[in-house]
Amino acid sequence: MKDIFLQNTLSGKKDKFTSITPNQVLMYNCGPTVYNYAHLGNLRSYVFADVLRRMFEYNGYEIKQVINITDIGHLSSDNDDGEDKMTKALKREGKPLTLPAMREVANFYFDKFKEDLLALNIELPSEFPFASDNIQEDIELIKKLGENGFTYTTSDGLYFDTDKFPEYGKLGNIRSVDESHSRIGANPEKRNQKDFALWKFNNEMGYETPFGKGFPGWHIECTAMSVKYLGKEFDIHTGGIDHIPVHHNNEIAQAEGAGYPFARYWMHNAFLTVESGKMAKSEENFITLNTLKEKSIDPLAYRYLLLSGQYSSPLQFSWEALEGAQTAWKKLKEKISLLSVDIKPDSENIEKYRNEFSEYINDDLNTPRALSLVWEVLKDQSLGEADKKEMVLRFDKVLGLQLNKHEEFEIPENVKVLINERNEARNDKNFEKSDELRKEIEKLGYEIKDTPEGTNVSPV
Ligand code: AMP
Ligand code: ZN
Repeated sequence: MKDIFLQNTLSGKKDKFTSITPNQVLMYNCGPTVYNYAHLGNLRSYVFADVLRRMFEYNGYEIKQVINITDIGHLSSDNDDGEDKMTKALKREGKPLTLPAMREVANFYFDKFKEDLLALNIELPSEFPFASDNIQEDIELIKKLGENGFTYTTSDGLYFDTDKFPEYGKLGNIRSVDESHSRIGANPEKRNQKDFALWKFNNEMGYETPFGKGFPGWHIECTAMSVKYLGKEFDIHTGGIDHIPVHHNNEIAQAEGAGYPFARYWMHNAFLTVESGKMAKSEENFITLNTLKEKSIDPLAYRYLLLSGQYSSPLQFSWEALEGAQTAWKKLKEKISLLSVDIKPDSENIEKYRNEFSEYINDDLNTPRALSLVWEVLKDQSLGEADKKEMVLRFDKVLGLQLNKHEEFEIPENVKVLINERNEARNDKNFEKSDELRKEIEKLGYEIKDTPEGTNVSPV
């Protein structure tokens, strides 16, 4: 098996990956808060997780993947204040403030989220646990933290005492730099502003528990669900970089406070930005996949755009870049559709290209280089067409760009035969014959363009 290297936020460097169990990867991806449609920025997180998953599958690993659904307990601020996001959605949609209504809203946006994942050709995870179905797990974990001396109560909730966990802030090394915890409007009842709510009291709506009626904190939900579905120790935990300073450090504190080894590799995708800053659900700047579809842009063009950058580098969104990605993606598919599977098999360079591809994707998912390699393969005159096709479609198992799907146009068999004959004539430098064949192809309604990268065919 080839070596895999991943940028691990926990160690602060690129680490060689070793799985807990041979040939198996256990991975948790922090899931969406289902109070609104997912925007393109959110979806960047799941395309990243999907490529990560596919890379492991390509390397022969079996993968158990969990994406949780946050359908309760996530407040507007990561710092346990502000309005509950789901309550906000209930009000916005004129629904009663009840738990069943909350679940109804959650189910609606969960279905939309799943549609988005499928449109982006993201493989669905083994589990999609809902936070509201795992309250008992939260209670058990909070009890354990209480027994281990990590909790205290204030008038509005049950808190984790970060001073009792000296390693607090080790993820991303935010121990000293933590502006996010020292805002104006700090909660005076907290012993330390870094402390966070495990349970928030709510007399009107919520779940009855031994510590009072209310909701679990967003952080305890993720820890309880990841441990329930993957075990006390698992391989990888992912999310956007905004989760590093608070959410993921809190998760580590909770898990280690309960005595669990927890995740071994922490990986984070950078933001998709717009001119005004980060694309966010709470701002008016968000673009959904539906907006793309309305503008006749295929969601997979967005996937292509994402893959042309490194997941860990910020990406500035622009319509021009997206349109450029769509043009490139379509061209790639057209080229592949023209490859004949019965010309010149057994090319020499196959092994070299395969190794190169593995090297790129195993190097912390270097998708920009993997994508350029696909273009290189298509341009390589020494490769047989059948080999090119086989190789590119093999690489597409990781890229997930559906390069073999040609919904725009299907070239009829008789045209394909003529194209092949013309290619052969050109290879033999028989330009007279090649011109005749071009005319014949045109008569059948197809236009031919010869470019340095090869021959493109499209309906006239
Ligand atoms: P949420 O539904 O807000 O809990 O976010 C779901 C996922 O999207 C999390 O992993 C966030 O870190 C990530 N995320 C949110 N905004 C962006 C953005 N603009 N670019 C990339 N990832 C984001
Ligand atoms: Zn989470």
